[in-house]
Amino acid sequence: MSGNDQNTPKYSQGETDVDRLRRTTTPDVMSVELVSAFSGDRDITRAESAFIGIQKDKRGIVFYSDLLYAVTHHYFAPEIAETLWGKILSHKHMMSQRLGRNVRIVVATIDYFSNITSELKSLTLISETYVTEIATLSMRDGMTGLFNHSSCYELLKLEVKNYHRYKTGLSLIMLDIDDFKSVNDKYGHQEGDRILIEFAKTMGDQVRDTDICCRLGGDEFITILPFTSGPGEALEIAERIRAKATSITYGGQRITISTGVAVCNQSTNSPQDLIKRADRALYRAKHNGKNQVIMDANL
Ligand code: GH3
Ligand code: MG
Repeated sequence: MSGNDQNTPKYSQGETDVDRLRRTTTPDVMSVELVSAFSGDRDITRAESAFIGIQKDKRGIVFYSDLLYAVTHHYFAPEIAETLWGKILSHKHMMSQRLGRNVRIVVATIDYFSNITSELKSLTLISETYVTEIATLSMRDGMTGLFNHSSCYELLKLEVKNYHRYKTGLSLIMLDIDDFKSVNDKYGHQEGDRILIEFAKTMGDQVRDTDICCRLGGDEFITILPFTSGPGEALEIAERIRAKATSITYGGQRITISTGVAVCNQSTNSPQDLIKRADRALYRAKHNGKNQVIMDANL
């Protein structure tokens, strides 16, 4: 056990994980931004560093439950949290090395949990209920493996916050397959599914590894592009996806897609603002004849 045991809250018999969480965690103290800074996503200020040092000393091993709670909104018993935290940091380090850029703790955590469910199951200290909860609340779209609708909004919310706080560029591409209904109508749903899966892969291949690919639902997709230098870069990526998508064929015919691009600016206050603008641009792309990229005029 690490930390200052004297100050570590003791467990009571019969106490459930949730009781323990209520008693031990002060949810707003450890914000996700703070955990992010602590994990090396950005420079940590001296005040933040001092604050986190105090938390670590004061809460002992429960500190790790706090860290994971801030990032995942799930409670992990301290012993498990400590082990998981070490693994997630190694995962973040490994991902960052492979990609040649800093992968943020939230992304590393999501990726870790999305890809190691079997490992979670083998940790007997985690309750069966919790394992079921993780499976149910999976952040990925079952068919394509991309982030699903709700995690897309959560991740975008975080990126919009980061944009305002750290002034890092942020763009969003909304993509929709043209006349997809006719693929289903002519060749059946199975063929339609194959196209969706293939398109998701094509999209993933054209973006940077730090970009976040999501399936909103049906034949509608979103790519979140953090750290984009400006509209030019986002347009280039959108155009690349559009061009590559045409190599996907069904019954001897190429698919085409329409895309709308929006760039985050000072008046973007929520994920919905950005999505609405990208959607508007997408609507124009459809209206103008499909198979094209349109940039929202509001830069
Ligand atoms: P547009 O160019 O205007 O986008 O035309 P569209 O035919 O693509 O438009 P619409 O959005 O009306 O059609 C989307 C279709 O996607 C409708 C539905 O049958 C199909 N679809 C939605 N989800 C799935 C899925 O999971 N699998 C398959 N195969 N088809 C799906
Ligand atoms: Mg469509």
